[in-house]
Amino acid sequence: MAGNLNQIYLDHAATTPMVQPAIDALTAQILKTGNASSLHSTGRSVRKELEEAREAIAKAAGCAAIDVIFTGSGTEANNLAVKGLYWLGAKTGKKTIITSTFEHHAVMDPIKWLVEHEGATVIEIPVSSAGVVDLNTLQDAVTKQADQVAFISIMQANNEIGTIQPIAEIVKIAGAIPVHTDAVQSFGKVDFNFTSLGLTAATISAHKVGGPLGVAALILKKGVNIEPVLHGGGQERDIRSGTFNAPGIIAFAAAANNAIADMQSRDQKVRSLKELLIKKVLTAVPDAWLNGSAEKTLPGIANITFPGTDSEALLLLLDMQGIACSTGSACSAGVHRPSHVLMALGANEDQATSSLRFSVSYTNTEDEIEKLASVIGDVVAKSRAATSKKVFQ
Ligand code: PLP
Repeated sequence: MAGNLNQIYLDHAATTPMVQPAIDALTAQILKTGNASSLHSTGRSVRKELEEAREAIAKAAGCAAIDVIFTGSGTEANNLAVKGLYWLGAKTGKKTIITSTFEHHAVMDPIKWLVEHEGATVIEIPVSSAGVVDLNTLQDAVTKQADQVAFISIMQANNEIGTIQPIAEIVKIAGAIPVHTDAVQSFGKVDFNFTSLGLTAATISAHKVGGPLGVAALILKKGVNIEPVLHGGGQERDIRSGTFNAPGIIAFAAAANNAIADMQSRDQKVRSLKELLIKKVLTAVPDAWLNGSAEKTLPGIANITFPGTDSEALLLLLDMQGIACSTGSACSAGVHRPSHVLMALGANEDQATSSLRFSVSYTNTEDEIEKLASVIGDVVAKSRAATSKKVFQ
């Protein structure tokens, strides 16, 4: 059981409970007064702790402290990177953006906005059925259009299927083109070093690594002076105005330290729980399949298609059994849209609305996986009985 949740929680990629050091840091800080930008000693004392937190996050992410720009969410950091790098490029006539077909909506949608409102052009690099971007297509696009490309944005790990992308190779192919990576799911779970990867920008978010909701960072190489989205008090290199969320930032640093310190030992435990989950679920439902490669993935994410079912029905039936997971795809205004990620891998619409994402943490147990395995067959049978979808192969 996770935190205060009276459920078997297999949805850690959506958000994960705060770790104790982050709770301690947050509660201690929230009781203090002081705006970290104020010049009096109360303000300066908060600022000192905030700058120590910046140093800690920089160390965890392999960048300089000056590179860290705190934001209110990963979504905000992605919007800032996408719009900021585009506007910077557009100043010298570079109006093309290269991205992949399976980015998170927080990257896809600001790009779409730039196309609709500012005349940007997009090149979407396809992904293989294993869930990895096609480097040959990327190389071709870069070779043909290098002088028109404002930036490349490709995620380090996909949030629905967990596959890890070859960021070092992407940066090499990019040459002088700035590269942004959305590392929201990968930071704290697998190796990430901003400087040695040669990135220009990266997004990380506290609530995916045991920190609080509503705090994140855009890591942006010093000297890359993008246009802000928010204008105001000039905080964060004048790139992200707004009074510092000192409690959130300090708790984010505590969570990042905790995640990095235990990354290796947690990795082994989480991977073996995930492997058990995949084995047990595929045994219980023999015609189900795992989406994306089983190699080079995040330790905790397994996305499984259950043919002839409806993923929302599966989710709710599992919920009734006390098990929380995710459909992986966006649900807006009650309309269940097929997963663009699974469609990018080659799934048809029926298949892309028949899958579940299970995301495991080191806090889960084998007993919890056994419980899932004991109910999944019945849950799938009930969903099949209630839909008109065909069981396909
Ligand atoms: N990018 C990825 C890959 C994510 O998985 C998420 C959250 O699910 C986000 C961005 C958005 O981050 P936040 O929830 O901090 O806005």
